Amino acid sequence: MLVPRGALVIEGAYVATLDPARREFVGHVVVSGNKIVAVGPGSSGLSEGAQVIDGSGCLVTPGFVNTHQHLYQWVTRGLAVDATLFEWLRTLYPVWSRITEESVYVAAKGALAQLALTGCTTAADHHYVFPRGGGDLLAAEITAAAEVGLRFHPTRGSMDRGQKDGGLPPDSVVEDRDEILAATSAAIDRWHDPSPGSMLQLAVAPCSPFSVSGELMRESAVLARRKGVRLHTHLAETTDETAWCLETHGCTPLEYAASLGWTGSDVWFAHGIHFDDAEIKQLGATGTGVAHCPSSNARLGAGIARTADLRAAGAPVGLGVDGAASNEAGSLVEEVRNALLLARARNGPQSLTVRDTLEMATLGGAQLLGRLDEIGSLEPGKLADLAVWNLNTLQHAGIPDPIAALVLSTPPPLDLLLVNGRPVVEHNTLVTLNHQSLAREVAKTQATLL
Ligand code: ZN
Repeated sequence: MLVPRGALVIEGAYVATLDPARREFVGHVVVSGNKIVAVGPGSSGLSEGAQVIDGSGCLVTPGFVNTHQHLYQWVTRGLAVDATLFEWLRTLYPVWSRITEESVYVAAKGALAQLALTGCTTAADHHYVFPRGGGDLLAAEITAAAEVGLRFHPTRGSMDRGQKDGGLPPDSVVEDRDEILAATSAAIDRWHDPSPGSMLQLAVAPCSPFSVSGELMRESAVLARRKGVRLHTHLAETTDETAWCLETHGCTPLEYAASLGWTGSDVWFAHGIHFDDAEIKQLGATGTGVAHCPSSNARLGAGIARTADLRAAGAPVGLGVDGAASNEAGSLVEEVRNALLLARARNGPQSLTVRDTLEMATLGGAQLLGRLDEIGSLEPGKLADLAVWNLNTLQHAGIPDPIAALVLSTPPPLDLLLVNGRPVVEHNTLVTLNHQSLAREVAKTQATLL
């Protein structure tokens, strides 16, 4: 094979391809430019003109895809630590009403840096708080993502149902419906890049049934489909939400969402915990996806999503860290482990395998974001988004199955994270930004905000 000068070759690593045959072997991965050009067992036989990385004792996986997050919350961590979702929201809305372009920029850098350090190469964000006079918050997080170097899927979120309309958020943090739709449409025109290898794609994401009017939900779906972008919202997170929905609309959250056009393979819901058997069947039949956020769900005591049942029904399931205000760790690799532990705690030892959970973090996420043809597995022609996990450590050495080592032990050091062929993490250190000065910036910003 002819490999252009400057190609990067990883040799001697255990490779989990996640390809259609789910091949795994000790072998090589060759990257040229922003693409994977070869993957296979044994040596690549290449050395002339290539940068060769010794992957002995390492595990190479596709880069993880984070499907639900609120980046701005990185500077509002550690508040209302023992509260329920609704109590927690009521404590945090007033703090969030003070966010600005500057605080969102710092928060997004912090949260995205942590995602990169924990194996994430593509990150979705759900931003729905736009205080008046706060500046261009979407631009702030898009700038931050470009600086950290991750593939980015921000959403233009929204809230138009304040307390005076029977919603949960204070009226000071909600926007007018027409303004929201105009701003969302303008954001898609300005930022959304549908081209192959895209580093930036937008979606439309009203916040949740209890903070958004039915009209905005319905019109958001129409707008997204007209623009050819995806739809995202929070749904069926807590029993309080189900009770609120039954009382307010006389139906369950999914019945409500479906009545407004919110099912289909272009829709993914965050959490999706409280669905009954018929609803899970409906999600599978319509190809509607779920972003499972195990740590956040446990932190807020919201419940445990039925991931095994959802997958069995054919509903795509990805993983998400959720906002750092309800998951201070913000670590995607830890979500893999927690997804497995919670599924087994709920439904027994056979409910989810270590490979099932790795699949949710990679292929599942890629499917939710509509990028399955480009990311989520290590195959020639796909984008060079990959993670090299070092298992030569006290915590991992000796575990016979490298995937079990990754999923069941403590998070291994990340020797290399490539996004679009570019190193973002090397030797467990961020190469695109200075970690220490970023930590100081985050602390200062949170102090100012509080
Ligand atoms: Zn969320």
